[in-house]
Amino acid sequence: MKSDDIFCKIVAGEIPSYKVYEDNDFFAFLDINPVNPGHTLLIPKEHYKYLFDMPNELYSALWLKAKDLAPAIQRATGAKRIGVVVEGFAVLHVHIHLAPINSPRELDSTNQKPANPEDLAEMTKKIKTEIAAS
Ligand code: 5GP
Repeated sequence: MKSDDIFCKIVAGEIPSYKVYEDNDFFAFLDINPVNPGHTLLIPKEHYKYLFDMPNELYSALWLKAKDLAPAIQRATGAKRIGVVVEGFAVLHVHIHLAPINSPRELDSTNQKPANPEDLAEMTKKIKTEIAAS
């Protein structure tokens, strides 16, 4: 299904992003309003509005990809956990929030704040390095 939502534009390279990972089916990039540094969004390239509308195979592969990427994000950030959230009220393109957290309730979206571009670029490098080493 074609769409012109902001995440489809990011996948197409029409809008810049702090990309940490890409393969044929998935794309992962830093949230520009992280709850904590390293907050990553993992998305299917194909446009689905709602997680539970995804076909089983792609749905399963998405969660396995989250499992693959989380340890690298954890190593890059030194966080105690990588928390997982799927809400999707703001952007209607399936995305899993993979957010480094160190204590309960940090995942609350009211904790999200804009990050500065230098910090995002630096974190992108760190996470990419850890993914490459996985
Ligand atoms: P949700 O749909 O899960 O409620 O929230 C959408 C998320 O996408 C938010 O955490 C927001 O900060 C993030 N977001 C929205 N627009 C952009 C963008 O242009 N670039 C990036 N990297 N993240 C975005």
